[in-house]
Amino acid sequence: MTTPIISSITEPSAGCPDDRQLGAFDDVAEATLAAQTAFEAYLDCTLAQRRIFIEAIRDEATREENLHHMAVEAVAETRMGNADHKVLKNKYAATLTPGVEDLLMEAFQSDAGMTTMEYAPYGVIGAITPTTNPTETIISNAISMLAAGNSVVFSPHPRARHLSVWLVDRLNRALIASGAPENLITIVRKPSMEATAQLMAAPQIQMLVATGGPQIVNMVLSSGKKAIGAGSGNPPVVVDETADIPKAARDIVNGASFDNNLPCTAEKEVVAVSSVVPELVDRMVEEGAQVVSDPEILEKLRELLMSPDRQHPRPSWVGQDAGAILQAVGVTPDPGTRLIITVTTPDDPLVQVEMLMPVLPIVATGDAGAAIDLAIELEHGHHHTAIMHSRDVSRLETMARRSRTTIFVKNGPSYSGIGIEGEGFATFTIAGPTGEGLTSARSFARRRRCVLNASM
Ligand code: NAD
Repeated sequence: MTTPIISSITEPSAGCPDDRQLGAFDDVAEATLAAQTAFEAYLDCTLAQRRIFIEAIRDEATREENLHHMAVEAVAETRMGNADHKVLKNKYAATLTPGVEDLLMEAFQSDAGMTTMEYAPYGVIGAITPTTNPTETIISNAISMLAAGNSVVFSPHPRARHLSVWLVDRLNRALIASGAPENLITIVRKPSMEATAQLMAAPQIQMLVATGGPQIVNMVLSSGKKAIGAGSGNPPVVVDETADIPKAARDIVNGASFDNNLPCTAEKEVVAVSSVVPELVDRMVEEGAQVVSDPEILEKLRELLMSPDRQHPRPSWVGQDAGAILQAVGVTPDPGTRLIITVTTPDDPLVQVEMLMPVLPIVATGDAGAAIDLAIELEHGHHHTAIMHSRDVSRLETMARRSRTTIFVKNGPSYSGIGIEGEGFATFTIAGPTGEGLTSARSFARRRRCVLNASM
């Protein structure tokens, strides 16, 4: 069915004046009130209507010119990442995030009657989005949250606000044209710490979702409201002596260089059995990695890329090209270099810290058991993502069980864990701290027991 459903707001002249940025508000209170009004209208829409609205989001986000605009502008505004990879990420967010079909109902029947376990919306969700996947998170969250019957107020990262406001406008126009209430998606035009605090305290906000680093995740978790926290990781990749080394090298270079290592799921350090390290390094070089082994250059890299206390990456170097990083420390990049690798020790801050840049340290261990132990230690208990290359099923099972990560990729690049060249749905909000895991529509819905008594 393609005919508009709420005809009174589908007239382009009435609903979509071209000089407005639809859904964008200077004031947090106005953004939440508008989303609340939209939610109340949305409550009267049917599931069939929701499906149409979700399709409108998918169609709008996957228009070629919009995919191109989002990719190029994200790199320009955030000053990080790789535009070609961002096209893919946005496409997967729009096409592989589940919609209404994710809300699978359970039913119980007996002589006493029938009970169904259904999904009900929370209401208005406040969603805080990161710089690293600015548009991907808005697209994926909007699909999931609207599919579950909610409206949403986005608070983007200040370094991605222009593009985020543009996207929310595009999505609102597409939604309205498909018959949806205005302002199902709103956004705070100028995000700030005060605006985020106001959003969290707004009485209309029934659920908070933070996709970002530990600070914002802890903030929403201490808000006193229902909160979903999708936080940082430090994904290790283990390679043992049974692995297909050429394939492991290719997958690791592809995964760790994807969008210049911005995804929270991307390989952040390799832990390999020492006997395979020389071949692994050679093969990674064939795939586009460049080795840095001079201790002086390595120290320059740490100085350039890390905070003085070596606890954090320097924001200005997050998501930069490998070639630019090498040039900044006086090394000429080889043609086609997309990843910097170095063999180092586990205590190297480049190993310990989530760097979010195409610099991948490799640590050697005596055997596979030691590699698994060290990898789990380096993941720092985030329970986020781990990867392993091995043909030994029992070792794969051991690492999966012991790491307790939300995503565990076996013999593939890290991005196959979020549906890119891997089976399964996509999401850009991976909720390790609060346990929802890979979020989808049902993560943003409350459970409702509906009981029909047989004696009626
Ligand atoms: P960030 O924590 O700096 O920012 C995330 C969001 O929180 C932004 O909108 C920012 O404005 C807001 N924010 C942060 N601190 C705040 C404060 N004190 N007050 C108010 N608002 C605040 O993270 P980032 O650099 O944008 O993204 C990278 C981080 O996010 C990495 O640690 C990465 O692992 C993580 N991440 C996790 C997931 C996931 O699904 N688990 C997905 C993407 C990114």
